[in-house]
Amino acid sequence: MRIFSGIQPTGRKHLGNYIGAITQYVAGQDRGDAIYCVVDLHAITVAYEPTVLREAVYDTAATLLAAGLDPERCIFFRQGDVQEHSELCWLLSAVTSFGELNRMTQFKDKAGAQRDLVSAGLFFYPVLQAADVLAYRAHEVPVGEDQRQHIELMRDAAERFNARFGDTLVVPEARIPQVGARIMDLQAPDRKMSTTGGTAQGTVLVLDEPKAIVKKIRSSVTDSGSEVRRGPDKAGISNLIDILAAVRGITPEAVESEFGGAGYGAFKQAVADAVVDYLAPVRERYNELRADETELERILQAGADKARAIATDTVQDVRRAMGVGPVRPRS
Ligand code: ATP
Ligand code: MG
Repeated sequence: MRIFSGIQPTGRKHLGNYIGAITQYVAGQDRGDAIYCVVDLHAITVAYEPTVLREAVYDTAATLLAAGLDPERCIFFRQGDVQEHSELCWLLSAVTSFGELNRMTQFKDKAGAQRDLVSAGLFFYPVLQAADVLAYRAHEVPVGEDQRQHIELMRDAAERFNARFGDTLVVPEARIPQVGARIMDLQAPDRKMSTTGGTAQGTVLVLDEPKAIVKKIRSSVTDSGSEVRRGPDKAGISNLIDILAAVRGITPEAVESEFGGAGYGAFKQAVADAVVDYLAPVRERYNELRADETELERILQAGADKARAIATDTVQDVRRAMGVGPVRPRS
């Protein structure tokens, strides 16, 4: 079983990424052949600074290694180092529906947030994402809830490809966690916590100091009630319940029965303490790993070599099936 996922190097990663995606990446190493990449080519679809991007790739790589990715047990690389992703993106555009791309809610949200240019890359983002996954013929894609629509689009593209050109690609499944698949912004609990779009005070960063974490969680927006239970009119409290459940590895029901009558103040403090303990070891390990850029670069390039070997094969098969290039014997 092959697992693939990618994460953006835009800014510092947050608790939502950690709970929704990164913990699944770490677990994936025990469940199958796991392949993960830092998607720098996706990050260029919104306004960015080239020098900052290069550094942010190291920040994100060190964060994932600190969380427990082990380059001996997974393939870990930088997307832009494997040029097959870009070529496959273009080839797949032939089997991607414009109408479906046009319905992607992430594009609508992000396009609305751009100050000047809405790039064509932002619109095409899901096609590159399809190429990322399909290049490795991955069976499973660990992601948060917000990526469900993009996975559906890549499944449709793979199915359309196979129907049109013959069985070549694996149609992947999303793997979305039961609890914590959509952690909300602490200041705007109607929006997901986000690397690029959220509020600063509502976003707990994986690398935040304990004091900052406590402050953000204690000042999170809740409702005028006092009962610790989930409900449609209790977005803030529901979010904190999910966070505590995910961090402790228990069900939201168990959190409700433990804290039901505790009052919001005591509950927030308990969530804050749990998140501080959860992230502290990652932050400490990060500081060691981030200091050695030469080693980070070595890890990413070694990963890219392994990734390329797989992706080249797939792109060759896709080109052959599509009639692109000369006839070549099957690899
Ligand atoms: P942006 O908002 O700019 O897209 P992001 O915070 O979504 O950034 P990504 O690198 O795009 O970060 O996402 C990495 C992974 O984290 C994806 O699998 C995504 O589904 C997951 N993820 C992102 N936000 C959340 C969240 N709030 N809760 C749970 N999972 C999330
Ligand atoms: Mg995202």
